[in-house]
Amino acid sequence: MRVVFLGPPGAGKGTHAKILAESYKLAHLAAGDCLRRHIKGATPLGIKAKDIIEKGSLVPDQLVNEMMEEEMWRSRSMYRGYILDGYPRTIKQAEALDRYLSKEKLVLNGAVNFQATEKMILERLGGRLACTQCGANYHTKNILPKKAGICDKCGGELKQRKDDTPETIKHRLDVYHKETAPLIDYYSKKKLLFDVDGDLGVPDLQPKLTALFDSFKEAK
Ligand code: AMP
Repeated sequence: MRVVFLGPPGAGKGTHAKILAESYKLAHLAAGDCLRRHIKGATPLGIKAKDIIEKGSLVPDQLVNEMMEEEMWRSRSMYRGYILDGYPRTIKQAEALDRYLSKEKLVLNGAVNFQATEKMILERLGGRLACTQCGANYHTKNILPKKAGICDKCGGELKQRKDDTPETIKHRLDVYHKETAPLIDYYSKKKLLFDVDGDLGVPDLQPKLTALFDSFKEAK
């Protein structure tokens, strides 16, 4: 099963992708997480991507396409599919993904479009804290760690992401509307689009996503 998660930052893509990937034994391939790993490892890609990500702009298509193709290819030995979280983010990336999948004789089951209000996005991103070691997400009001400032999973330090400041969030939303929102039409024309309400909390949205994933599983 291969599914794309579309939507603005803070719409819940990553949170739901983690849960579904685990229950359907899929790889969770999150473009932002992969890029942050490259930055942490100071790879040539990470060095190029660092300033771009901190500003909230998009890393050039070709670099992201190469990185994600490698991730998809590598996941083959351990998983029978993947959730692409935050990839593609431009029409050019979507076209590259189509070419990659057809070269590999694979199909996309669907593109899940997380719709979220700006109020909810600002609330979620404004209070988000991320682990500087493993990347796990917390929230100053809704998802508190057991010990303040410390990740429950790995003991790493929790900090606000540099791209979660009000100014950068605004820029990321502008980038989303300009570059990524056109993908809604792209996948709708291919009859692959499934809208979900990203404002809903995990307990309300997960059952709907599970039903959708079950229908994908039956199809392929
Ligand atoms: P995210 O973790 O999904 O919020 O992504 C964080 C940042 O990584 C984005 O604001 C972009 O700078 C970069 N990024 C993530 N995915 C992509 C992508 N598909 N294409 C280009 N840049 C990306």
